[in-house]
Amino acid sequence: MNMTYLHHSGFQIETKHSVLLFDYYTQNGMFDRVNEGDFPHKKFYIFVSHGHGDHYDPAILRWADRAHYILSDDVELPKDFKGEVTWVKPHQKLTVDDLEIETLASNDQGVAFVVKVAGKRTVFHAGDLNWWHWNGESEEFNNDIADSYRREIDLLKGREIDVACVPADPRLQDKYDWAVDYFMETVGAKVLLPMHFWKHFDICEKLRQKPYGAHVALIRREGDTFII
Ligand SMILES: [Zn+2]
Repeated sequence: MNMTYLHHSGFQIETKHSVLLFDYYTQNGMFDRVNEGDFPHKKFYIFVSHGHGDHYDPAILRWADRAHYILSDDVELPKDFKGEVTWVKPHQKLTVDDLEIETLASNDQGVAFVVKVAGKRTVFHAGDLNWWHWNGESEEFNNDIADSYRREIDLLKGREIDVACVPADPRLQDKYDWAVDYFMETVGAKVLLPMHFWKHFDICEKLRQKPYGAHVALIRREGDTFII
C-alpha cells in the first residue's frame, strides 16, 4: 500500500480498493491535497482522532457521497450532515468493512487508532496521544502525562505494527522525541512516520540518528509517498 504524508498529522493510505485518510487538515485550504478524481473507483474511509482544528477539518465532509467517516465522538458535524458515520470512543473494537479498528484513549482529547487493513497491515495513528512533557510545567502535570502516555502505549506491547504515526512536536524542546522513543522501545514498528512537527522536517532527520533510526521514514516535504 502507498502511504502519503499530507500535512501536520494528516496521512493518506491507498490500498487496492480504498483510500484511508487520517486527521486530514488543509489549514484553510492551503494544504488541500486530496483530489477525489485521482481515485475514481475507491471508497474513502476518513478517520478523525478528535475535534481540534488541526485534526478535524470540515473540508472532509465534501466526500460524503463516497466516504465512511470514523469519528471520535467529540467531533461536531453540521446538523444537516447526511454522510455515513461511525462514532468512536476510547477503548473500543469494531469492524467497518475490511477494517478492524481499535481505539486507545488520548491524553489530550479523543482517541488514537489501531487499524488492521484488509487482514494484512496494521497501522497506528496516535492522534494527539503524546508524551506532552512541557519544560516549565509542574512536576505533577508532567508525571501525570507520562503515566497516561505510557499506560496507553503499553496496551500495544507484543503487537506487530507495520506503520506507526507518532507525534514529535518541536514545541516540547528537548523532550520532542520522548513519545517516539517510548513507542519504539516498547512496541516498535516496521515504519515510523513522525507527525505534528509543524513543518520542521529536520525532526525526521534527527530521529533517523536514533538506534531505531532505520525504521523512521525520512519525510522531506508534504506529499511524500512511501511504499509500505
Ligand atoms: Zn494536535
